[in-house]
Order: sequence, then structure tokens, then C-alpha cells
Amino acid sequence: MSRNKIKSSLSRVNFFIGRSPQIEKKVDWKRFIPEPYKAVLLISADFELAWAWRYTKSSQDPLKKAIDKARIERENVPIMLRICEQYNIPITWATVGHLFVESCKRSNGVAHPELPRLAHFENDFWRFQGDDWFEHDPCTDFKSSPEWYCPDLIKMILDSHVKHELGCHTFSHIDCRDNVCTPELLKAELQECKKEAEKFGIELKSFVHPGHTIGNLDTLSREGFTNFRTDYRNVLGYPKKHNNGLWEFEQTAEFVYRREWSVDYHIYRYKEIIKRAIKSNTVCVFWFHPSFDPIVVEKILPEVFEFIDKNKDQVWVGTHGGYVEWLEKRKWE
Ligand SMILES: [Zn+2]
Ligand SMILES: [Zn+2]
Repeated sequence: MSRNKIKSSLSRVNFFIGRSPQIEKKVDWKRFIPEPYKAVLLISADFELAWAWRYTKSSQDPLKKAIDKARIERENVPIMLRICEQYNIPITWATVGHLFVESCKRSNGVAHPELPRLAHFENDFWRFQGDDWFEHDPCTDFKSSPEWYCPDLIKMILDSHVKHELGCHTFSHIDCRDNVCTPELLKAELQECKKEAEKFGIELKSFVHPGHTIGNLDTLSREGFTNFRTDYRNVLGYPKKHNNGLWEFEQTAEFVYRREWSVDYHIYRYKEIIKRAIKSNTVCVFWFHPSFDPIVVEKILPEVFEFIDKNKDQVWVGTHGGYVEWLEKRKWE
């Protein structure tokens, strides 16, 4: 059996016996779940086009993979937005700041000269050994290089009648860990994101670290962000407030297609997670890469979203930012 097959089978067993996602012990759950609901459901997307994959270790030709992923993502996003409209389900789009940009140019041969650069590093997913962190930036515009910019898709999200949220995923999909990224570097990236988002009238409040490189939390808080998502485990639980004021949302599951599972099993599994959230009075945090296999938007999510819609009397469905607003209205002693 291949490694993937073993992992997928194990995951089914752990899911069946209720070991994953873990269910956190019931606390005073009404502090976390708005009346009269029984559970909270948040869905976020790591919206990044080619920026996420350009240093991936999962391919011999990372740049080609990056561009292929970006093209799939561009096809998936409008379909995703239609499903969201059909079932009125909002998503928190953690967006790479460069996607807000319409066009950019090199100045004296340097892309985005105002931004500091990461030094060479390696993590679980990426290896950066290149000449310059922005070496792949085409420095053209969204029409010539639609894999690196997408003000058009951002407008589409904003024009939707569903109240989506645009969040932040750094400007250039950097590794945010404290030993790789200085506070000054993250600050510069965040400020660039805020500057670009402002042109669309957007205030960025929600953050997702690229590649789960959790770090620099105090900088996030200082720059006005209110929440972030983590991947330490898969859990149906409750958000945690850090001393710096940030809310942490632990992930429950990723919307992703596994070849080893049938479409029906995927649908069953996501619906079952929502049922478990309702039963345990917990917060369910789904997330996805919009560059996933198109079968997810074509066959899996329509059924899952229909199920969510039918359970809206029991499940509060909202964005990360919207949920934080509700949390902050509560008294925290
Ligand atoms: Zn650029
Ligand atoms: Zn990412």
C-alpha cells in the first residue's frame, strides 16, 4: 500500500472512532456560541494564486506548479462564489496582498524595492535559495500575468450579495516564523497589504500565516489584526484569546480532495463534522486552498453547503472578523 493510502485509511478510522477531529471538553459554551445557536461555523480560504507555490518542495519545477495552481484557482473561485451565493455562505478570504495590485514595475531592476527581503531558508513545505524573494514577480499587470494579480476576482468577491470578508495572508506569502522573519519585515508586508486593500475600501482584520508558519503574533496585534488560524491539531473546540488581544481559531478540517476517498465519503465526512459540532456545541473551522481539485467545487461543496444552509437555525455561520466582533461584545473577565 502507498503511503497516501495508509494515511487515508488511518484518517478514516480515526474519524470513525471520533479521535479526529478531537472534541474539546465542554466549557461554558454559551460564551462562545451566540443565542439561540448550537454551534459556530467559520470557513476561510488561503487566497494566493502563484505566490504560494513558487518555492514548493513538492515539485521538481516549482514555478510551473505555481502557475498551474494559479490557473486552476482562477477557474475555481468564480464557481465557489456562485455556490456561496446559492446558499448564502460567507467566506473569509485570507488574501496575498499582491493580488490586490493591478500592475507593478521594477525600479532599477528591483521589484517592490520598498519591501525588505527574507534571507534563504527552508521549512516543511518550501525551500528558498533564489537570488531575490521577488525574483518571480512578472512586474506587469493582471491582464498579462493573471497568475500573480487578481483585482478582478477581488471585485467579484466584493460585488457578491454574500457578506464575505477579505483578510490577509501577507503581501508576498512569506514565512512568518520568528526565527526567519523579523518584526520589521512582517510589519512592512502588512502595511503594504493594508495600503493596497484600502484602495478597495477594505480594512484588514483577519490573518492567516502562509504555510502555517505561525509567528510574529505581537506584530500582527500591533498592526491592528484581531485573529489568526492555527493548524497544530484538528479540533472542534473554542477560540482562545492571547494576552496581546489576538483570537486564535484552531482548524477543524481542510476542504480537499483525496483520491483514495469517494466523492460520497468526502460529503459524508464534512456533513458529519458539522453534526458533531452541533452535538458538542463547539466552533467548527473549515479552510481550503481555492487551487484544490475542481471536483471539490463541482461535486463536494454544493452538497455540503446545502446541508449547512438547511441547518442555519442551529449553526451560526460567519466570517472570522464577524465572529470576533461578536466575541468582543461579550464580557471577558
Ligand atoms: Zn509586483
Ligand atoms: Zn498560503
